[in-house]
Amino acid sequence: MKNYDIIVVGGGPGGYVAAIKAAQLGATTALVEKEHIGGVCLNWGCIPTKTLLRSAKLLKDIEHAAEFGIALPPGTKPTLDWKRMMNRKDKVVGQLVGGVKGLLKHNKVDVYEGFGRHAGDHQIQVEDAVLRYKSLILATGSSPRMPSTIAGLQQGVDQGVVIDSTGALQLDKQPDSIVVVGGGVIGVEFATLFNTLGTQVTILQRASEILNFLDEDVKELMQRHMKRHGVTIVTGADVKAVEGNAVIALVDGKEERFEGEKILASLGRVPNLGGFEGLGLETSPRGVVTNEFMETNVKDVYAIGDMNGKMMLAHVASAEGIVAVEHILKETRPLHYDKIPSCIYSFPEVGTVGLTETQAREAGHDVVVSKFPLTANGKALAEGEAVGFVKLIADKTYGEVLGVHIVASHATDMIAEAAASMELEGTIHDLARTVHPHPTLSEIVMEAAHGAVGKPIHMAK
Ligand code: FAD
Repeated sequence: MKNYDIIVVGGGPGGYVAAIKAAQLGATTALVEKEHIGGVCLNWGCIPTKTLLRSAKLLKDIEHAAEFGIALPPGTKPTLDWKRMMNRKDKVVGQLVGGVKGLLKHNKVDVYEGFGRHAGDHQIQVEDAVLRYKSLILATGSSPRMPSTIAGLQQGVDQGVVIDSTGALQLDKQPDSIVVVGGGVIGVEFATLFNTLGTQVTILQRASEILNFLDEDVKELMQRHMKRHGVTIVTGADVKAVEGNAVIALVDGKEERFEGEKILASLGRVPNLGGFEGLGLETSPRGVVTNEFMETNVKDVYAIGDMNGKMMLAHVASAEGIVAVEHILKETRPLHYDKIPSCIYSFPEVGTVGLTETQAREAGHDVVVSKFPLTANGKALAEGEAVGFVKLIADKTYGEVLGVHIVASHATDMIAEAAASMELEGTIHDLARTVHPHPTLSEIVMEAAHGAVGKPIHMAK
């Protein structure tokens, strides 16, 4: 039996980062992965979706080339080569997965391929091997939720009509139409992708708005923008059944049918707990319950990433992995979940961190709100990407930044500045005084801060 200081089960962005960190800090470390190193994020999530979205964006840009003074040969228009687009996606994924494998080797992490399961006190089994640990970090991730309350959903899966996000990334041809059930982040990203590629898209959302965790202004713009670009959005749709190629939903109490060549079920995700039932882990409907250091109720067992359900994001999984390892091997400090950014890779993108305006007011803050539109930003106009704004929410007393919400073509890159500012307990005065390079989209954050302090320079108040 091989002994390790730390065994990590699950090789996604939570698990592989934890394993590398543990080895770097001098622990003998093993990583157990049943399928693909890189987990959902690298293989079936973050990276493949963004790679396909890049193809979609390029197609869109070429379609609008004439506006930029570039003419296509008369009578021609760009066409999509589905296979090549998918091959490029697989190549990017392969390169990243290979890179992570190299890093694990370089850091002397022992990688075991196979399903890891609890095998008695401080032991796990992988295939024929039994491994002993001082500390165990579970990072087994999550899987798409397929609620049994929707009649016919599973039959739809079996017939190949209903797909989940993984299925959507493996289609061998572009569907003419798709019904996306669920208007959360993943649903909206796929809706953006298919709509931009020319598929007819319908989103069915049970709540009264899509992306309902976002700030009101962001939600409103995104919904309006997507509709303007041809996405049909049906809110208040209580999906009851799938029949062949149709989704049956109650909308305002009336039964309606929505047909699509494919039906994408994007109804949230459930934690993967298989193999560790015998450990006695305390769970809630969100996942394995942990404290701020990722410790579970079972001694020497930690749970990180999607499986604890705190925030199902890759960067959160990685950060939690580092917290867990540091807690085992040295000192650490808890994460500030209220200062972690979330992104949506739609066109335009959304980057958001901290409180929405409503949440800030409900929390009792005396708030100052400042918005700055992209139409007043030189770089945005030069790029022809002027849909969007930044909305900055701060506490009036000291100007502490409480929330920043950006809709812009590169919002997902821009939001890190706001997160850093909030992590450092920055104020609107700090942001206004920070000299931003010109011309950049990032200037809108400074402009909004100027607006919060007094007056924005480049906009009449
Ligand atoms: P996972 O990535 O799920 O990895 C868990 C690993 O554990 C898997 O490889 C699995 O095979 C393995 N495993 C499970 N059980 C066992 C076992 N018993 N033994 C051995 N191995 C096991 N997040 C973002 O931050 N940004 C994005 O842009 C983004 N886009 C996404 C797009 C889609 C379509 C999806 C589905 C998700 C997206 N996410 C995104 C979410 C992100 O992928 C997850 O939050 C992240 O992958 C969670 O990491 P993890 O390490 O907790 O788990």
